[in-house]
Amino acid sequence: MSNMRPLLEVAGLKKHFPIYGGMFGTETARVYAVDGVSFDIAKGETLSLVGESGCGKSTVGKAILRLIEPTGGEVYLDGQRIDNIPLVRLRPLRQRIQVVFQDPFSSLNPRMRVRDILAEPLINFGLAHGRAEIDDRVAKLMDTVRLPRDAMRRFPHEFSGGQRQRIGIARALAPGADLIICDEAVSALDVSVKAQIVNLLSDLQDELGLALLFISHDLAIVEHLTHRVAVMYLGKIVELTDRRTLFAKSHHPYTRALLSAVPVPDPDAVRSRVILTGDVPSPINPPSGCSFHTRCPFAYDRCRIEEPELRTVGEGHQSACHLDHVPGGQVVPVPR
Ligand code: SF4
Repeated sequence: MSNMRPLLEVAGLKKHFPIYGGMFGTETARVYAVDGVSFDIAKGETLSLVGESGCGKSTVGKAILRLIEPTGGEVYLDGQRIDNIPLVRLRPLRQRIQVVFQDPFSSLNPRMRVRDILAEPLINFGLAHGRAEIDDRVAKLMDTVRLPRDAMRRFPHEFSGGQRQRIGIARALAPGADLIICDEAVSALDVSVKAQIVNLLSDLQDELGLALLFISHDLAIVEHLTHRVAVMYLGKIVELTDRRTLFAKSHHPYTRALLSAVPVPDPDAVRSRVILTGDVPSPINPPSGCSFHTRCPFAYDRCRIEEPELRTVGEGHQSACHLDHVPGGQVVPVPR
């Protein structure tokens, strides 16, 4: 895998939203929603993008899909740059990147039967012709997401939330996508249904070799699905590593605080909770230095002045913090 170019490469991605005001409607401020995010995803890999609400993770997904135009940075799909090509040339590539949103009900046309919802991408991308072939492809998609074939004749409101999300996944699979962006795709579901959809995505990944960008605020959910995790805070990635390392040896104080809130299945296990004080600062006027310094229990003078680089702290493990952990549970400043 190491010699192969990743399926998706995101380099220095930025999305700033200007705020206009004053008598002349000039730009008076900027929302730094995404501010220099870089990662890649290999074929068949799941990368989870996690962080609190408003950290910019969904904006990353929308900028990759060009549902909003990036302010800067580069995005490559299979080596082809896609962030700056005209939208008309992007269309065939859209076949390869699909999205599943949080609210399946609002993303499914309530007046269309499931058969027609799933037929639409097949017809648009010229993947099936004639009623019999389309029906056959739709029936196979229903099998793939473990829904009964005869349910294709029903309307979205006749399904439960979990079943509607299965339809959303089937629609994403219809064009033959090899990367699916799941934007809080299980957040609105009950706990048991969440687990079923996560299991389905995991099975589909194995069966179809799909790559997933799994955007979620819930670290407990990504633990069962992901290969690697990127933790975002105020528009930037602050830690990036594989799942096992993240859950066993996270480095960044923000990641440690998020992990401390994840329930532990063993009732006898005790995980000391790190309570973060203060609110998430505004992305309009992010703090100087390390943007986490206003809430970090370890913040010291340097943190308020100097922004930490995302640096290598272990094999395949990067963290943006001026401190290092040493045996005995101590933290020490990294020399300048
Ligand atoms: Fe905390 Fe400083 Fe590390 Fe930022 S750089 S996470 S403020 S210790």
